[in-house]
Amino acid sequence: MQHSKFCLAGVMGWPIAHSRSPTLHNYWIQKYGLNGSYVLLPVQPENLQAAITGLPALGFAGCNITIPHKVTAMDLVNDVDANAKRMGAINTIVVQPDGSLKGFNNDGFGYIQSLLDAKPDWRADAGPITVLGAGGAARAVVLSLAERGAKEIRLLNRSEEKAQALATAFGSPVKVLPWAQRHAALADIALLVNTTNQGMHGNPELDLDLSQLPSTALVSDIIYVPLETPLLAAARARGNPTVNGLGMLLNQARPAFKAWFGVMPEITPELINAVKLSL
Ligand code: NAP
Repeated sequence: MQHSKFCLAGVMGWPIAHSRSPTLHNYWIQKYGLNGSYVLLPVQPENLQAAITGLPALGFAGCNITIPHKVTAMDLVNDVDANAKRMGAINTIVVQPDGSLKGFNNDGFGYIQSLLDAKPDWRADAGPITVLGAGGAARAVVLSLAERGAKEIRLLNRSEEKAQALATAFGSPVKVLPWAQRHAALADIALLVNTTNQGMHGNPELDLDLSQLPSTALVSDIIYVPLETPLLAAARARGNPTVNGLGMLLNQARPAFKAWFGVMPEITPELINAVKLSL
């Protein structure tokens, strides 16, 4: 009888109209024969507390939290999972059986899973890793790489103090280098990750010379609009394996769906096509 229950979840953000999350969660709701809906929840910052507190009364199983609420929402739930606490942000709220609210952050899981989907034998300790950027997404990427056993993470950000703050939070494998050294920081690495917004639709491309990048290094860009950024195109042209940001987006959604509705959903070629069409 569980499937006769109306399953309700959504994504809270401001603005929110651009979100692709309804496409994927509603695909899964239909695919797994659930009765329900995943909706856009446009919530202005001053209404965030009322909106989050109202989730159980409205019958929501939970919601995703996105820009600009990921940090503030942490203080508005009853409990925050340890991983999300370390990241300093939540991207998912799950209404617990007793009606209390628990916050999670699945971005790091989504990122690691996207690498494993592209390269099943990928290992974090295969060699040095260079991460460009130290914004919100970089926190999830760097923390999850460190937790997977990365031995050396070279972190470079235009504003170096933000990279320093991240290194202080996440400890020994993270070594901060000046932004000007980003070209040389590609020597000997096994993985390059772009977490800056450079190369995203509407922004200039990332200013990076790949000549010192080993030809075996995996190149990952967490941007998914466009699916192939100029960085990925350049890497592919010189023979490097590449991973785009779509896998991170799709994979971070899976544990949330499982927590709300009890099914760990699969990423199928049909789903990938549906999301690509919405980009
Ligand atoms: P954010 O917190 O605003 O961080 C932006 C980053 O870009 C900062 O490191 C910033 O450096 C850097 N940057 C901005 N302009 C730059 C420039 N001209 N030159 C060099 N670096 C520059 O954003 P975010 O939330 O981390 O998101 C970053 C990117 O990741 C976005 O493109 C977003 O779409 C993508 N993303 C993808 C997923 C996914 O699921 N695939 C999830 C989250 C985010 P400063 O600190 O110096 O400003």
